[in-house]
Amino acid sequence: MEVGLLERCGMVLREAGGQGLVALVTDATVASLYGERVLRALEAAGLRVVEVAALPPGEGTKTLETAADLYRRLARSGLGRDGLLFALGGGVVLDLAGFVAATYMRGIPWVSAPTTLLAMVDAAIGGKVGVDLPEGKNLVGAFYPPRLLLIDPTALRTLPAAEWRNGMAEVVKAALIGDPALWEALAEDPRRWAGPPGGSSGEAAVLTLLQRAMAVKIRVVEADPFETCGQREQLNLGHTFGHAFERASSYRVPHGEAVAAGMVAAAALSERLGVLQDPSLRRRLEGLLEGLGLPRRWGLWLAGYGLRADPEAVVAAMGTDKKRRGGRLRFVLIHRPGEVRVHDDVPPEAVRQVLEETAG
Ligand code: ADP
Ligand code: ZN
Repeated sequence: MEVGLLERCGMVLREAGGQGLVALVTDATVASLYGERVLRALEAAGLRVVEVAALPPGEGTKTLETAADLYRRLARSGLGRDGLLFALGGGVVLDLAGFVAATYMRGIPWVSAPTTLLAMVDAAIGGKVGVDLPEGKNLVGAFYPPRLLLIDPTALRTLPAAEWRNGMAEVVKAALIGDPALWEALAEDPRRWAGPPGGSSGEAAVLTLLQRAMAVKIRVVEADPFETCGQREQLNLGHTFGHAFERASSYRVPHGEAVAAGMVAAAALSERLGVLQDPSLRRRLEGLLEGLGLPRRWGLWLAGYGLRADPEAVVAAMGTDKKRRGGRLRFVLIHRPGEVRVHDDVPPEAVRQVLEETAG
């Protein structure tokens, strides 16, 4: 992780033992912003780029069809098992390219270079790669971590405000899960991170923010690398509600916004069930989200997208959550900043009440 890393990515790859042929997978927007810079850096270091795939931006690209197209392009370019796949972009590109790397020729090495805040603090950590099916998101995939993770905060300079906010929702989530001091700092000054701070001092601050948010996820993932012992489920804070909002809206709302509104509902549920030990948390969380330009009240927020806020539709959407086990809904509840726990004994009535209460 370093300011200006993309300019030097060729040398960094070489130092890490990379040699031979490289295929660059990115999306068209990121290609137009950073493609040249990365290509030049790779070629200056003596690496041969044999394929550049600049896919259409957006979740619609994360499919088996795109993967199949990529396999064929890689095969035609002569990329073998000693080749390297370089993924440059947001979560969509990383998930898809990582999945292709995991399966092409039974697995070739790949490098992950996230260019969105969301991907830096979330998608790029934890080794999960995959694609969507018409039946649901991320239904096909693998655990296949990259050889190298390259994070250059200068890439965030061009990030649209809405994408920045989305990433900040996961930063707030990370702070609540495992970094009480970061939570304090964020809640103290809700507007501080409303957009990416400019200048080199701003970038240094972003670097620290990234490091801390990433550290939380890394710690959780290391305790439960293959999602088998439950630790990793903590990362779902705000997501049982959030995924239900996304599903109820047929995925017409951004993930980070859904998680923001979902965290408010999770805090309200924690309060209602008497596990939340910090009485000011909910008010401060709402203040912070407002400062960041993120939604707090799910009903008002969905209405802003022209969608109907129906608690029953949200409850129904929860019923199809793939994280559900043994027929019971599982919620990550906040006990205090830095201490969250999974509960599988939440009465459905409490969920309904919370949805009523946090709608608007
Ligand atoms: P995520 O899941 O990380 O939000 P996506 O891959 O859907 O990721 O990216 C969100 C959008 O942001 C896409 O349209 C992508 O082209 C664009 N994007 C990614 N990185 C940058 C960047 N550094 N600057 C500007 N736009 C970017
Ligand atoms: Zn998320």
